Amino acid sequence: MTDCIFCKIASGEIPAYKVYEDEKYLAFLDINPLNPGHCLVIPKTHYRWTYDVPDFGEYWEVAKKIALSQVNNLGCQFVSFITVGKQVPHAHIHVLPRYENDPHNEGLNTSNKLNLTPDELKTISEKIKI
Ligand code: 5GP
Ligand code: ZN
Repeated sequence: MTDCIFCKIASGEIPAYKVYEDEKYLAFLDINPLNPGHCLVIPKTHYRWTYDVPDFGEYWEVAKKIALSQVNNLGCQFVSFITVGKQVPHAHIHVLPRYENDPHNEGLNTSNKLNLTPDELKTISEKIKI
């Protein structure tokens, strides 16, 4: 899709801190992380919603891979999987590492955007990278 930011990330036209890539899916750091290590998992082909992705189970298996890497490499307590899709109309799963005393409780508190430097984002992406 021409004007889609995530299609542009998938094609390499726009850079991102990638943590996983295969033929069909890509995972990268959210540009405005709600916790350190916040990742997005997308299908490389444009679909509007996660449930439009043809191999839904396979797609979520990628999110699981990212979550296990976050647990093993970031020292987070657990991981939340969230889908929203109001801002970017290309299917994405938020894979959000959760830390003790973070501000998210049961959901996703979007007022807690972190301001991480490019160096910090790079270091975090390298820790998660599969
Ligand atoms: P949603 O559509 O689920 O409400 O949120 C979209 C998410 O994509 C937001 O958390 C936002 O920070 C993230 N995002 C928006 N534009 C970009 C971008 O250009 N690069 C990256 N890495 N993340 C983005
Ligand atoms: Zn797209």
